[in-house]
Amino acid sequence: MHAPLYAINGASRSDDVSAPSVSARSKIIVLEVLSDDQMAALREHHDVVVLDASLAKTSPDTFNTTLMHELSNAHALIVSKVKMTEALLDAAPQLRVIASVSVGYDNYPLEALNARGILLCNTPDVLTETTADVGFLLIMASARRAVELSNLVRDGKWTQSIDEQYFGTDVHGKTLGMIGMGRIGAAIARRGALGFGMRVQYSNASPKPALEAELGARRVELDDLLASSDFVCVTVPLSSETRHLIGKRELEKMSPHAILINIARGPVIDEAALIDCLQRGGIRGAGLDVFEQEPLSSSSPLAQMPQVVALPHIGSATHDTRRAMAQRALDNTLLALEGEPPLSAVNEPHWTRKG
Ligand code: NAP
Repeated sequence: MHAPLYAINGASRSDDVSAPSVSARSKIIVLEVLSDDQMAALREHHDVVVLDASLAKTSPDTFNTTLMHELSNAHALIVSKVKMTEALLDAAPQLRVIASVSVGYDNYPLEALNARGILLCNTPDVLTETTADVGFLLIMASARRAVELSNLVRDGKWTQSIDEQYFGTDVHGKTLGMIGMGRIGAAIARRGALGFGMRVQYSNASPKPALEAELGARRVELDDLLASSDFVCVTVPLSSETRHLIGKRELEKMSPHAILINIARGPVIDEAALIDCLQRGGIRGAGLDVFEQEPLSSSSPLAQMPQVVALPHIGSATHDTRRAMAQRALDNTLLALEGEPPLSAVNEPHWTRKG
């Protein structure tokens, strides 16, 4: 294998700094659960330190001290649940690659990574369909009140035929409004249009003519989408632009018969405004996989209200998909440490000077 040439454009580190080569074992910190064969693949060429990320919540001080110590001579980090701070990056002068086991990258200070020439990789595509399944699960469960009525059975309260106080609302043939029409948004829209005969409209940064042709989808202004959709489904990434994209004003535009779904990130919706809206009957209900504070407290009204289906952030949580995500993160890490372009990177201008 040729000696890698590693170029980091726009980074403060000099361009002639080489990535750790395959001949030199690099140090990789793993904060995620990888399978035995995946760990063996990492250990074949590199030194691996595994840390238990759950300690970040239960013993944050000890965890931070240990992580900072290990970062002091680490070259790569495989992670998803630990928020990367500038202080952690400052403790990692040799860090070249962070492989996030997620598609969203709101946990990472992108500018600080760019300034330090640290490559950030993510895991798009491999989780798209699985996450879209949960998006549609939330649509179906909210519309047909599946959790509320299942609890009724479990609690021994199914004593007579269900009457109209427990009726739901149809999904098929209704209007699905997608806020965000990227990979996951398109996969949910496909389920709606092709599987349930739904009319699809969307609001997105850029137009999606191919999806318009495929699904008959219409691009509309956000306010129009809110006012005319039976189901409003949020799939935009969390950024400074999308934080509280859906607040009091936007919720007031929605029909009292509409249902709001969030499969993206909690802070895209102003949760206090949503709780107020639901309590006033401003919308029919909500299906939520993500929350402003996770884990969601069981005392939150969102965990208590019967018209809310709340899931514990399980969009990608299947054995198959989590393994595929871990594999993508592993592949990204090994490629990056070899000076090769990774399969999926967030901050792009790297690897331009390969021999
Ligand atoms: P994606 O393909 O990048 O799609 C995001 C879409 O949002 C893009 O179409 C983008 O427009 C659009 N967009 C971005 N900023 C916008 C804005 N300010 N206004 C309007 N539209 C905007 O990402 P994805 O793979 O579908 O993932 C979407 C998000 O889902 C992730 O970032 C992550 O936070 C979340 N997620 C959650 C789970 C879960 O477990 N619940 C699992 C996976 C992902 P352009 O096409 O014009 O760029």
